[in-house]
Amino acid sequence: MTLYPHMLAPLDLGFVTLPNRVLMGSMHTNLEETGDWNRVAEFYAARARGGVALIVTGGMAPNREGGVFPGAAGLFTPQDIANHRLVTDRVHGAGGRIAMQILHAGRYAYGSDCVAPSAIKSPISPFPPRELDNEGIEKQIADIVTAAARAREAGYDGVEIMGSEGYFLNQFLVRHTNRRTDDWGGAYANRMRLPVEVVRRVRAAVGADFILIYRISLIDLVPDGSTWDEVVTLARAIEAAGATMLNTGIGWHEARIPTIATSVPRAAFTWLTARLRPEVGIPVITSNRINMPDVAEQLLADGKADMVSMARPFLADPDFVTKAAAGRAAEIAPCIACNQACLDHTFGGKLTSCLVNPRACHETELVYTPAMSPKRIAVVGAGPAGLSVALVAAERGHEVTLFEASDQIGGQLNLARRVPGKEEFDGLVAWFRTMLAVRKVDLQLNHAAEVSDLGGFDEVILATGVKPRDPGIPTEPGAPVLSYAEVLEGAKVGQKAVLIGAGGIGFDVAEFLVQDGISPTIDASLWRREWGVGDPAVTAGGLAPDGPHPDPAARQVTLLQRKPEKPGRKLGKTTGWIHRASLQMKGVRMQGGADYSRITRTGITVSIAGANPVEIEADTIVICAGQEPRRELAEMLQKAAIPFHLIGGADVAAELDAKRAIDQGARLAAQL
Ligand code: NAP
Ligand code: SF4
Repeated sequence: MTLYPHMLAPLDLGFVTLPNRVLMGSMHTNLEETGDWNRVAEFYAARARGGVALIVTGGMAPNREGGVFPGAAGLFTPQDIANHRLVTDRVHGAGGRIAMQILHAGRYAYGSDCVAPSAIKSPISPFPPRELDNEGIEKQIADIVTAAARAREAGYDGVEIMGSEGYFLNQFLVRHTNRRTDDWGGAYANRMRLPVEVVRRVRAAVGADFILIYRISLIDLVPDGSTWDEVVTLARAIEAAGATMLNTGIGWHEARIPTIATSVPRAAFTWLTARLRPEVGIPVITSNRINMPDVAEQLLADGKADMVSMARPFLADPDFVTKAAAGRAAEIAPCIACNQACLDHTFGGKLTSCLVNPRACHETELVYTPAMSPKRIAVVGAGPAGLSVALVAAERGHEVTLFEASDQIGGQLNLARRVPGKEEFDGLVAWFRTMLAVRKVDLQLNHAAEVSDLGGFDEVILATGVKPRDPGIPTEPGAPVLSYAEVLEGAKVGQKAVLIGAGGIGFDVAEFLVQDGISPTIDASLWRREWGVGDPAVTAGGLAPDGPHPDPAARQVTLLQRKPEKPGRKLGKTTGWIHRASLQMKGVRMQGGADYSRITRTGITVSIAGANPVEIEADTIVICAGQEPRRELAEMLQKAAIPFHLIGGADVAAELDAKRAIDQGARLAAQL
């Protein structure tokens, strides 16, 4: 008897039956652009082996002008089709099914050839688009249809037509990007003509027995977006035009409301899929911030959707479905929705991977082979680096002892998980705990390893982490100074706090100090009110008519840094704006160019941008000024001539994060 009867139930699409209700959503990984198609094939095949019912590839351009960036992958030549054939054959060989997403970026295309319904530049691209004439529109349709036909030729089981997130087809639907006065603009029947025509002609080209998913925007989260009536009208027309299923799209890329970041409540937008479901006769797929089988099961059991799309969770763990089916859900490596190794990489032009699973998109290069001769390995420190090296070494068959000075594993992750909006870190620490037991790592808590403990091991790995940096600011005795760790561990903080340092931790501490009571991340209605998410049935586009309404800040917070630039510039590429917006909404003062003179009992004396020093009144000063490596044990081992490896923050503290720590640990363990 399974715990997930709805999630594991087959889905009959008429001409094909999917084995369960889990779809791997489209993600652009930059893998195709490496030209290494064996690597692309292995990435998808690993997910097929893991039991997902249907995979959707990253978006493929139907033509040059529609590519997300110049040179974006697509099915343009016979060689492209042969390359994709490698992928589909490998997925089918692994027992899976795969559909190719066709993505025309329209005015979001990052190139001077971009085209759109009207010549209106998007706020997130420097390139003004060219307005298409009728012939130009017909060419775009023909190119999309050709891409779909070639997908079938390349062995795909279907296509997904990307009609949401503010891309080309979506741009025709709404007046703020479609100002046309011909048959492709004006009344809604004209504005929706392009997506409907695309689906109709694709269906005619690919035949009846080919999966055709249309990704529809259920809430645009931009002013003058679609109304709910328009969404339903479009959904019905798309069904009539021949779509097999409708997938959920949430928010345009230019929207200023987070839609997939870790601070978004789990399953925050499934209410919209649930509302669409009774309006159409074909299966609907829901998506966004669904990362665990219990969440998927519940919403399917509640009748909110016919299928669940999860994308990043399949980077974190390719075996999501088989583990859930085998009653081993606690062993699923959780996607914490951090974006650090996936979307931040993708948008930074780097290969996608995963903070939790460094093998994601590196399947052919980072391989955990069974150890030829198992060794006795000591790891000191159970933070992210130590946990990672211990688990991979144990997976390979080594005998691992993990020493941890405190009474719990997790290291700095235990601080992160106390920050409102970072609740997913709880699941990550729990997963590490489970896996230490599964892999039979000998965990020695409350044991600060000494040189005498480490002599008898074949390999010694130090992951002793970091200690907070003392910025050395002259301080009056008795001044109310706390470290970030003390604050996150619950030390009492007054009503006026000044934070020294505005890196990731300064922002986290500020978030911790302005929130009071329940975190909006675990209360979806509170979160919607905070960010101003309304209802497309009330306001076109679904923005709340009266805007965001955050609760008042729990205290007054000032965030300082010495660099003259805007604080938060170096935060994650795809999430930094969320942290900055969140603190701005709470009235946090963020100031660069600070020169600290002295901390007193009543505040801190600072000169801002070379001006005369002033005192900023504060009843608590929190030091968030970065970290230094903790290497005392390393020095002692050196003296005792015991060789060791140094990883994580103990190796390099600057710009350390869990992504680098876990990756470094895994790569070392793969070689031992
Ligand atoms: P950090 O990012 O290096 O920031 C340290 C802050 O302290 C900076 O604002 C720096 O700015 C200031 N600072 C450095 N030396 C100072 C000194 N001697 N006196 C006064 N101020 C000083 O370090 P962190 O905030 O502690 O974060 C540690 C790591 O964890 C980072 O790599 C970060 O990426 C990661 N992290 C990530 C997230 C996330 O959400 N992804 C969250 C938390 C932490 P000035 O030098 O300009 O003053
Ligand atoms: Fe999820 Fe973070 Fe991994 Fe991306 S990097 S898949 S968000 S855990």
